[in-house]
Amino acid sequence: MILLMLMVIIVLVILGLVGGSFVNAFVWRFHENKNWVSGRSECIYCHHQLSSIELIPLLSYIGLGGKCHYCHKHISLQYPLVELFTALVFIVSYIYWPVPIKGVQVLIFILWLVVVIGLVALIIYDIKWMLLPNSIVFSLIAVGLLMAIINLLNAQNKGTMTLNYIEACAISGGIFYVIYVLSKGKWIGGGDVKLGLLLGLLVATPEKAFLLLFLASLIGSIVSVPLMLSGKMKRKTLIPFGPFLIISCFVIELAGSNILHWYMHMLIYR
Ligand SMILES: [Zn+2]
Repeated sequence: MILLMLMVIIVLVILGLVGGSFVNAFVWRFHENKNWVSGRSECIYCHHQLSSIELIPLLSYIGLGGKCHYCHKHISLQYPLVELFTALVFIVSYIYWPVPIKGVQVLIFILWLVVVIGLVALIIYDIKWMLLPNSIVFSLIAVGLLMAIINLLNAQNKGTMTLNYIEACAISGGIFYVIYVLSKGKWIGGGDVKLGLLLGLLVATPEKAFLLLFLASLIGSIVSVPLMLSGKMKRKTLIPFGPFLIISCFVIELAGSNILHWYMHMLIYR
C-alpha cells in the first residue's frame, strides 16, 4: 500500500514537472500567438531552438546553471519555480484529496490535475500581463462542468448538490460582477468575474465560495500591505487578484471542509 502511494507520488512529481514545463512554454507561445501544440521551444533571447536534452524540466535548468547554452543569458527563475510549484500542487492534491481516490474519483482527480495546470497558467498570465484570457478560462469552465456532471451523476441527493453548485457560482461570480459594475472595471477586471464563476464551480458549495473570497482577500492583504508600507507599491498600483483567488481555491479544494468544520467547532464550543 505504502509502496503504491510512493509510486503514485513519484509519477505525480514527474507529471507535475512536465505540466509546469508545459505551462511555461504554453503561456509564452499563447501570448505571442504562436502555435503552442507543434511549435518548437526556443531561447527567448537568441531564439536558438532547444534540443530535447535542454527541455527536461528542472534538470536542464540545473544542468545549464540557469543560463542559455548558446547566448549565456540568464534563464528566468520563473521556469524552474513554475515546474516545482505545479509538482507540489499535484503531490499535495494527492495527499490531501478529501475523499478516497477510487472508482469515479480517479477520473475526477485526473480532471482536477488538468484544471491545476490551467490555473497555474492563469496565475502566470495574470502576474505577467494582468490578463485572464477568455479561451483559457472558458476551457477550464468546460472541464469544471464535466467534473460537476460526473459528481452529480454519482451523488445521492442530486437536488441539494445542484443547488450548492448554483449558489457557489452565484456567490463567487456574482460578488465580483457587482464589484466590477460598481467600480466600472477599475478595481477588478471582467476576467476576475469569469474566474470567480469557474472557482465557484470547483469549490462547489456556497460556504466554500464565501471562504474562497475571504481567504483570497486575506492573502491579498498579507501580500500587498507590506509592499505598500515599504513604498515598493503605491496605493494606486494595480495588482492582479487572480493569483490570490486561485491559490485560495487550491487550499479550499483540499482543506475547505476541514477549515469549515474547525470554524463551526469553534463557534459551538467557544
Ligand atoms: Zn539563448
